[in-house]
Amino acid sequence: MYKKYLLAILTALAIFQVHAAPFHSQQTAANENPLFMESTLPLHYPRFDLIKNSDFAPAFAKGMAEELQEVEIIANNPEKATFENTIVALEKSGALLTHVSAIFFNLNSANTNPQIQKLMRELAPKIAAHKDTIFFNSKLFARIETLYNARNTLGIDAQAKRVLWRYYQDFVRAGARLSIADKAKLKALNEEIVSLQTDFVQKNLNEVTASSVYVDRREDLAGLSDAEIDAAAMQAKADGHPDKWVIHLQNTTNQAVLAKLIHHSIRQKIMDASLRRSSHGGDNDTRINVITLAKKRAEYAKLLGYPSFAAYSLADQTAGSVDVVNKMLGQLAPLAIAKARSEAAEMQAIIDEEKGGFQLSAADWAFYAEKVRKKRYDFDESQLKPYFELNHVLLDGVFFAAHKLYGITLQERHDLPVYEPTVRVFDVFDKDGSRLAILIIDMYARSNKKGGAWEAEYNAQNGLRGTQPVIAIHLNIPKVAPGQPTLLTHDEVRTAFHEFGHALHSMFSHIKYPRIASTNVPRDFVEYPSQINEMWASWPEVLQNYAHHYQTNAPIPKDLLEKIEAANKFNQGYATTESIGANVIDQAWHQITATEISAVDDVLTFEAAALQKAGVDFAPVPPRYRSTYFSHIFGGDLYNYAAGYYSYFWSEVLDADSVKWFKAHGGLKRENGDYFRAQVLSRGDSADPLLLFRNFTGSYPDIGPLLQRRGL
Ligand SMILES: [Zn+2]
Repeated sequence: MYKKYLLAILTALAIFQVHAAPFHSQQTAANENPLFMESTLPLHYPRFDLIKNSDFAPAFAKGMAEELQEVEIIANNPEKATFENTIVALEKSGALLTHVSAIFFNLNSANTNPQIQKLMRELAPKIAAHKDTIFFNSKLFARIETLYNARNTLGIDAQAKRVLWRYYQDFVRAGARLSIADKAKLKALNEEIVSLQTDFVQKNLNEVTASSVYVDRREDLAGLSDAEIDAAAMQAKADGHPDKWVIHLQNTTNQAVLAKLIHHSIRQKIMDASLRRSSHGGDNDTRINVITLAKKRAEYAKLLGYPSFAAYSLADQTAGSVDVVNKMLGQLAPLAIAKARSEAAEMQAIIDEEKGGFQLSAADWAFYAEKVRKKRYDFDESQLKPYFELNHVLLDGVFFAAHKLYGITLQERHDLPVYEPTVRVFDVFDKDGSRLAILIIDMYARSNKKGGAWEAEYNAQNGLRGTQPVIAIHLNIPKVAPGQPTLLTHDEVRTAFHEFGHALHSMFSHIKYPRIASTNVPRDFVEYPSQINEMWASWPEVLQNYAHHYQTNAPIPKDLLEKIEAANKFNQGYATTESIGANVIDQAWHQITATEISAVDDVLTFEAAALQKAGVDFAPVPPRYRSTYFSHIFGGDLYNYAAGYYSYFWSEVLDADSVKWFKAHGGLKRENGDYFRAQVLSRGDSADPLLLFRNFTGSYPDIGPLLQRRGL
């Protein structure tokens, strides 16, 4: 929620207008701040080659000042409020701020440095205050409210009506109707919240580095491939430890290497490092951030008339209420935990058979799950990887499927600047050959890059101005030693398809007003286009096209394919339970009232009690994120999922339902792709998203296909 408004300010209230150096036209180009000018590169592609850290602060200052000036002019317009002189004018305001924000926030996630981090800390509360200045402008709100009340007599079309409704909602939910005293309270809360979030992210990032596990002997890493061990040595050397090997942690609780490491003691060491992140004292401890954020958010919701932050947040989502979310989690929890317990029993049997003499713990799960998988399906991850070489996966998989469905083609180009040498750039051409977008692909993990995978927009589609998208997708694939091919896990392959699904949503957007264009949909709908795109990763025709052995080019054997298919339901007890655990934590911190939170003094105790109450306290399956490193909900990223982590399940319900539709209509076909594009991917938030879904599939979402898919 909160961030959504920030996002609204940063990417939607504003569009990028021509800033052809109006203020510094006498200076030489070398002195010019490149952020003040519109890039002359194709589609206004960012000038990564010219932008310096020191350019951001003045660009933010100027961007905010300009936007406030523009807003004042709109608010004080002596003419009667019209849709054109108010809403359209707002949509056109704040261009420079939108431009600089997109570049700055994206770089802070993908390629940060201490100066950017420092500026981020300084800027976050200033931007929050800036946003409030606009939302609390009573003359401006009066114009919006007048228009909103007269919406049916203005003679405007459906899209215009929708954007007007959206503005009205944005302002009301941001406190535009509060008294002056309450506005001041809300403003102070906003600044505190955003500072705490920024601080949380930076502590987490530093903690990930501080939690790296160094090992002294090569044999401790037994189970990893030689290439992986070499990469671990290379990374340790880069960290300043030339005689060691390092395991860098990923942002989730479970760590991918645990599936392979043979020695129980090293596995335990890695899991312990992962679980205790930011909760053991020192500079990177976030426990105080967690409690304070939960408290401040509860107070925030109370001011706006809601019993809890979750109630406030969910009112603006397609799920609509706390009850709907609790019902879904309640339906899933007992099924998931029962499945997880039976999976654990199966693994314990193997440990006992091997005379291991220990009880299965969280640290052992992935390793023994691999054994079960091998035993039951007779294959393991290492057999698959040679068939998932990065270029095959991208060009012959992700792009191939998109070509089949939508007729688009992608072509790599090397003439545009990048912020990191491994980053790649592609032109995207539409079915008629015209240019649709530019796609940046940033695949590899780096210590200055946020964990996980995500899509971001540098320039969003904007029908008022006629601009086309420049977007980026990011993964965190471990970097390989020079000369080695990049081989993906099954999971990473799926993630590549997933992020490209977000990219399609951005690229196909065909909406006049930026506030309701592209991925500016409710948070619990935004994962739907990406999750549905995952289905093509395992679609036989697509798989046969990309899954070729990187050395022999032999296609992936048919029996291996069948085993993958059969194994799809494998380990779903674990996967579902760990996600529900994270959801329970999220809802617990946000369904609490402002009064209740004052009695909470220990984060880990609160977390444990919440998991127990929901019946998902099963030590071998820890939550996917614990409170202290759950940056989705406590972090300051552009997309904050506070009270909204359920969105992944929610979107999966929509996704599983839609997969059924695609299968029933012949699968990978242009006709189907074009229909999905027309009904959903091009529509942004121009209509109620659940209505778009219903128009597409013919009915409202049903949880059945999800339960079936996960084998629950
Ligand atoms: Zn996603």
